[in-house]
Amino acid sequence: MSTVLLPSTYHCRPVAIATRHQKEEVLRTVLSRAGLHLIPLRVDTDSLGTFSGEVPRPAGIIETAVLKARLGAGSSGLALNLASEGSFGPEPDTGFVVIQREVVVLLDTDTDVAVAGRAWGLAPWVRAWVLEVDEDPVERIGGLDLREHRLIVRPDTDRPPADAVTKGVADADELRAAVARLARDHPRVRIETDLRAHMCPTRHLVMVRAAQDLLLRLSSPCPSCAAPGYGVEDVVRGAPCRDCGTATDEVLALVHRCPHCGATSTRSAEAATADPARCPSCNP
Ligand SMILES: [Zn+2]
Ligand SMILES: [Zn+2]
Repeated sequence: MSTVLLPSTYHCRPVAIATRHQKEEVLRTVLSRAGLHLIPLRVDTDSLGTFSGEVPRPAGIIETAVLKARLGAGSSGLALNLASEGSFGPEPDTGFVVIQREVVVLLDTDTDVAVAGRAWGLAPWVRAWVLEVDEDPVERIGGLDLREHRLIVRPDTDRPPADAVTKGVADADELRAAVARLARDHPRVRIETDLRAHMCPTRHLVMVRAAQDLLLRLSSPCPSCAAPGYGVEDVVRGAPCRDCGTATDEVLALVHRCPHCGATSTRSAEAATADPARCPSCNP
């Protein structure tokens, strides 16, 4: 993607990023090319939820990212505050594949506008295993390349106590030791991919794409109030089948919305007709 030209209000501005997990390293290059200079703030963002379940997330992914940006604004003393948030869950149609969603939010405390960039991708590398008693954990995770992925070892419960969760497990010896330690008190031990940004380089690609989407939105003024951030917030489904015209589940139109004044407009999607393979009449 070519560099986006941001409005002059953003040129050469310092931007605080509230993160515990060195996210500035992931986002610095793409944002600095557009003139935004990241300054990391080591804020305890774990109070707003952790992947490993000790702290549930209080709100949806965008709302949580805005809360993180506000948390940063409270101590940064800067007007521009950035935060990033990711979530992983089953793909809604089949439930078989894991979808990674990433949001990068820029909060401007001068105008109190928060603009959210979004991106998603398939994440088949997100894995979890529950061990049988006395099962060898290294054998169980099979061919998983520990040079590319770190692991979390924890009790297989919804809200594990923080002191029972070992994160950033990097090799076979550490894995066996963490499992042995836990197995003394917990009958069911769970191993899963460590999804924290600094432990999970595979996650970075979609984070960078969310930052690119943010830049695109920042460079799109609202047609009503001229505030930055105008972009797609929702879709309308029901595109007609190309052969028979039956309404399908495919995207018909994109709903653009202004994060400042709330003005919306609905525009036809690029392909506003659907492949007959997705049609309930042609391919029931
Ligand atoms: Zn059809
Ligand atoms: Zn507006």
